[in-house]
Amino acid sequence: MKLIILGAPGSGKGTTATVLREKYSLAHISTGDIFRANIKNGTPLGVEAKSYIDKGALVPDSLTVKMVQDRLSQDDCKKGYILDGFPRTIAQAKALDEMLEGSGEKIDAVLSIVVDDEIIKDRVSGRRVCEKCGASFNVKFKPTAVEGVCDLCGGNVVQRADDNEETVKARLETYYKNTQPLIDFYNEKGLIVEGDNGKDSDICVSQIEAGLKSKGVL
Ligand code: ADP
Ligand code: ZN
Repeated sequence: MKLIILGAPGSGKGTTATVLREKYSLAHISTGDIFRANIKNGTPLGVEAKSYIDKGALVPDSLTVKMVQDRLSQDDCKKGYILDGFPRTIAQAKALDEMLEGSGEKIDAVLSIVVDDEIIKDRVSGRRVCEKCGASFNVKFKPTAVEGVCDLCGGNVVQRADDNEETVKARLETYYKNTQPLIDFYNEKGLIVEGDNGKDSDICVSQIEAGLKSKGVL
């Protein structure tokens, strides 16, 4: 099963992708996570990407597309994957189509995670992530048992550098301008499956599973 997941920052796209990854043994390809790992390790890719990410802008396609292509060619992707954070523009979607055509593959469905705007702002400003395992928490909605310590692995739980108010605003604008049009792009191909993640992530996952079943993907 090869999936793309689309959703605004704070929609719970990453969390939903993690649930589906575990349940269906998919490779989880999060371009944001790959960039952050490169930034942490001080790679040339990380150094270049950081200047864009800190502003809430998109990293140029020339860097992003190559990075995804390398990742998709790795062995663990053969069993199926969920692309989280890519494509983010129509140009990236077209680049992905070309990559897949080259290897005779296709995307089975595109998950669209829907959430109200007001909820999004609260979620992102309160979001904290584990530096070690990447688990996501929220000071308001899902606090850690001990402040600053991951419930799952004991790692340090911190705020992402780009989760401050100003950058979040820029990221939301970038999302509506560049990424929202992808929903129409994939709707025309009959690939969209919607999940409402405004309340409970279990509800969202069930809606997605029902949608995948009705398309014969599950
Ligand atoms: P979110 O979806 O919460 O904004 P991500 O972790 O997916 O967070 O991405 C964080 C940042 O990484 C983005 O704001 C952007 O700067 C960069 N980024 C991630 N994926 C892409 C992509 N496909 N194309 C360009 N930039 C990207
Ligand atoms: Zn952890």
